[in-house]
Amino acid sequence: MAENTGARLPHIVVIGAGFAGMQFVREFPGDLARITIIDRQNHHLFQPLLYQVATAGLSAVDIAQPVRAVFGSRPNLDVIMAEVTAIDLVAKRVTHARGELPYDYLVIAAGGVTSYFGHPEWERFAPGLKSLDDALRIRRLILCSLERAETEPDPVKREAAMNIVIIGGGPTGVEVAGALAELTRTVLNRDFDRIDPSKVRVRLIQGGPRVLPSFPPELSECARRQLEKLGVEVLTGVRVESVHEGGLVVAGEAIRADNVIWAAGVGAAPITRRLAGVELERGGAIRVLPDLSVPGHPAVFALGDAAALTDANGLPVPGVAQAAMQMGRHAALTIARELRGERFSPAGRPPFAYRDKGSMATIGRSAAVADIRGRQLSGFPAWIVWLLVHLLFLVGFRSKFSVLLSWTYSYFTYRRGARIITGVSGEGSAGSA
Ligand SMILES: Cc1cc2nc3c(=O)[nH]c(=O)nc-3n(C[C@H](O)[C@H](O)[C@H](O)COP(=O)(O)OP(=O)(O)OC[C@H]3O[C@@H](n4cnc5c(N)ncnc54)[C@H](O)[C@@H]3O)c2cc1C
Repeated sequence: MAENTGARLPHIVVIGAGFAGMQFVREFPGDLARITIIDRQNHHLFQPLLYQVATAGLSAVDIAQPVRAVFGSRPNLDVIMAEVTAIDLVAKRVTHARGELPYDYLVIAAGGVTSYFGHPEWERFAPGLKSLDDALRIRRLILCSLERAETEPDPVKREAAMNIVIIGGGPTGVEVAGALAELTRTVLNRDFDRIDPSKVRVRLIQGGPRVLPSFPPELSECARRQLEKLGVEVLTGVRVESVHEGGLVVAGEAIRADNVIWAAGVGAAPITRRLAGVELERGGAIRVLPDLSVPGHPAVFALGDAAALTDANGLPVPGVAQAAMQMGRHAALTIARELRGERFSPAGRPPFAYRDKGSMATIGRSAAVADIRGRQLSGFPAWIVWLLVHLLFLVGFRSKFSVLLSWTYSYFTYRRGARIITGVSGEGSAGSA
């Protein structure tokens, strides 16, 4: 990081180096303020491709970039790796694991966490997918289960080891289910002697009437068909009643499965709950004003998944990467204008309006659905669009190159490189992953 020369400049503290925080820093003019970006991880993570790490398609380093490396030579920028534990909105101070930081402006871009809808005890048996550690845990769980099945003499236990249940039929659940069906049927099917991985049962459970509920119904139906073609059993309109070691109960029926993955709920990062006197939505997101500031605190902005807003067009802003990046840009421009001497009251600040560039989900090799400004695509064309968009938004040339190489390799060889099992200390621990 470049030496900090701006001690007398106003100080902006940014909590979170995710899509919103990184975009804020990128867009903010480097000479107007001193910025400290603080994150409990040392890297920016491209969450849309996490499922590919979980399903052995990509390696962890392909989708993460060290924050220090991204902003290498930028002046007036400090990077701190630490967890923020408290925010004092009156004293204008942030407390982190190793100290305190005073701020003139604060940007809360702490993102979200997996939510188990009031059942945190399910987390032990059904990992969510939010961080690299989560993705590696899921990959280990699946690969270790198949290793166990290979030598398991008891047919009931062997079947449980070869059962995968994904809870939640949104984009993450659909992508994980498609990728796991493909992994077991077209990649791992050649690797084992005693078991046939193409017999692995992959079930996708969705509480609502259709998968991908945020997409038009025709694309939901199309996604369902593409999943079923890959061998995924799609169960809609059924609710999970409990999750326990070795299985779960769905609509009164017990399912034995050693591999249960939670893709059902997202809540805001817990730090939002430590803000005294600030109104939160269900799930903990901060209800922000149209300019993205926190009510009563014009120097504090909340962005991305940590914020809840109905935008200037009267539409709720979705919890997606594009929205987080656009919010980062909006807040950066607002603060920069103020620091340049443009005086407008919080109510007079420009309101945020989300520009929806479309949504997409991929369903394994050569299959996807995309809704781009009302234009619906499915199958191979949607998959090509998905591929290009994800490559475009990945941070860093090395990542783009490495991901493109991995995808080309898997496309032509039906193999996946990232299948090494790590983090297993001994024979007995293989099941718990
Ligand atoms: C598996 C998965 C797939 C997804 N797929 C898509 C997709 O295909 N398309 C799409 O548009 N969106 C997708 N999303 C959603 C998208 O990733 C999020 O909307 C986006 O990351 C939100 O950006 P953010 O900046 O608000 O938060 P994040 O990107 O989550 O960043 C928050 C950062 O804050 C840090 N942080 C949190 N709490 C603290 C603390 N107390 N102290 C210090 N640091 C802290 C975190 O470590 C993290 O780096 C997906 C999400 C997931 C989990």
